[in-house]
Amino acid sequence: MIHLKNSAQITAMKDAGRITGEALLVARDAVRPGVSTYEIDLAIRRYIEKCGATPTFLGYGGFPASACISINDEVIHGIPSKSRILREGDIVKIDTGATYHGYVGDSARTIPVGHVSEEAKRLMQVTRDSFWAGVEMLRPGNRLGDIGHAIDSLVVANGFSTVRRYVGHGIGTDMHESPDVPNFGTPGRGIRLCAGMTLAIEPMVNVGSFEVRELPDGWTVKTQDGSLSAHYENTVALTSDGVLILTEVEKGF
Ligand code: MG
Ligand code: MG
Repeated sequence: MIHLKNSAQITAMKDAGRITGEALLVARDAVRPGVSTYEIDLAIRRYIEKCGATPTFLGYGGFPASACISINDEVIHGIPSKSRILREGDIVKIDTGATYHGYVGDSARTIPVGHVSEEAKRLMQVTRDSFWAGVEMLRPGNRLGDIGHAIDSLVVANGFSTVRRYVGHGIGTDMHESPDVPNFGTPGRGIRLCAGMTLAIEPMVNVGSFEVRELPDGWTVKTQDGSLSAHYENTVALTSDGVLILTEVEKGF
């Protein structure tokens, strides 16, 4: 069942979204060669708690940290660790969430560590662009498949592939609500979009094949072929006045 939000609920989600977005700015400022993923996670946790919010990821399904931090061929769900040190040329995916007054924000960015390859830059750009291509289709009367098709078409046109095993989702008082929001689809298919929907749209894009595998730690997901992967996610709201990007606090990031 899809929980549509009224304007008061969307206003509450703006606060959770803003805190989540700001936590990612804090994370970006912490990214540099030599820093551990543990330190970045700690900075995120401290910021969220300083705002009077709760790190949504901490303890979610038993996850041990406030952010998923995944490097290079790791796609999602990387566990922060004192022994994972960022190196010049890495790309790091940071995915976090904040719960504030009962509502959740969920957002992810892929951040370069120092200077990265041209391919890595293009992958990050295409992944971000594919998110916005999906958002373009977020209009009352369109269907869920229109979003996924727009994302995947842009990715494939650029020679990359869209992860299929993991998808976006509805979001509200729970981090994961109905519906699933796949990053691929058939135009004109799927449920009809309407005002009051709040979704986490989150393309995960690989340089090589879309196949992924989960590591024995039970969390970390990597590309099957070892190719680079990028992730870009915002919590968005479809209102009668248009689309709100709830977790975007700085244009272009
Ligand atoms: Mg997320
Ligand atoms: Mg999500």
